[in-house]
Amino acid sequence: MKVTEHIAKAKKSLFSFEILPPLRGHNIGNIFSTLDPLMEFNPPFIDVTYHREESIFIERENGLLQKKKISRRPGTIGICSAIMNKYGVDAIPHMICGGISRQMIENSLFDINFLGIDNLFVLRGDSLKKESSFYANRNGHKYAVELVKQIKNLNTGKYIDKYFIENNHDNYSPMFNFCIGVAGYPEKHLESPNIDSDLYFLKKKIDEGADYIVTQMFFDNKKFFSFVDRCRTKGISVPIIPGIKPISSKKQLNSLPSNFYLSIPNELVKEVIKAKNKDSVYNVGIEWSINQSKELKNSGVEVIHYYTMDKPDNIYKIVKSIY
Ligand code: FAD
Repeated sequence: MKVTEHIAKAKKSLFSFEILPPLRGHNIGNIFSTLDPLMEFNPPFIDVTYHREESIFIERENGLLQKKKISRRPGTIGICSAIMNKYGVDAIPHMICGGISRQMIENSLFDINFLGIDNLFVLRGDSLKKESSFYANRNGHKYAVELVKQIKNLNTGKYIDKYFIENNHDNYSPMFNFCIGVAGYPEKHLESPNIDSDLYFLKKKIDEGADYIVTQMFFDNKKFFSFVDRCRTKGISVPIIPGIKPISSKKQLNSLPSNFYLSIPNELVKEVIKAKNKDSVYNVGIEWSINQSKELKNSGVEVIHYYTMDKPDNIYKIVKSIY
């Protein structure tokens, strides 16, 4: 079922979350042990992130370095299928533009459709560590909006591989009907010159057919409420789902702002610094997220989406006290 249909038929605020595919070499059991405790709260849908191939350098016996491409967390689509089979909930694969041609995307969309997956979360992806900015695949997309357009085209029967379709179907009728989610950034995307510019391009994703937005994590609800107001003023009327992540280590006070371009309120920073050990930091993070979630729920958001980072314990405690 589509995310928009889940939202339309819900009588109360829903709970959803996202997981990462396990590291290469691990098995599906790792995923199920993350999911099992959280299934108690009946999430209508679960997202599975996508991780792009990266280049690593291996030192050979002769001292020269060998470049190797490695996918550390493969298997997004397969994991979605396994989740749907085991738990009977909708699973949403994340799809990115980085490193993938339009043809490869079209082929993946066939797999996804055959597996009965109704939703896609569409992103550009980040630039590679060695790149100064994002470079599109030679036959790929530069921005998420282009990928939204490709999927929307497929929904109306416009394939990339027109030749095959035109020569094999006399009475062709479209068989794709994906619901599409896209990312939004309450504190703007890190590359964007300002929030208005970012909103302008967010609106383009919606105008091209995206059905809902999930936000980057934020720690100050005022940023989210102001983002929603700005979106509505610009004519973006689709559901906007807030993304919540509990802080779980002191290190994250620096790593989250630098990786995701977000700010952490001083009150939270002080509490984390004051915490005497790892457990106390963990509890501060849980307490903060519970308060954020309560306020969001009371404000009437349709769904609250949690970033688990594959560690369900803190999310369990937060959701238990909210849902
Ligand atoms: P876009 O919407 O393409 O925007 C990228 C930048 O370009 C923005 O600054 C925007 O303002 C600007 N822009 C957009 N269109 C144009 C245009 N036509 N002309 C000029 N500028 C433009 N990454 C992964 O690799 N895998 C994941 O699974 C994943 N999941 C995520 C889930 C969520 C909820 C979020 C918020 C992020 C996720 N990301 C993931 C990270 C995401 O890929 C990065 O934030 C990426 O840098 C931007 O992706 P986007 O889809 O927002 O890009």
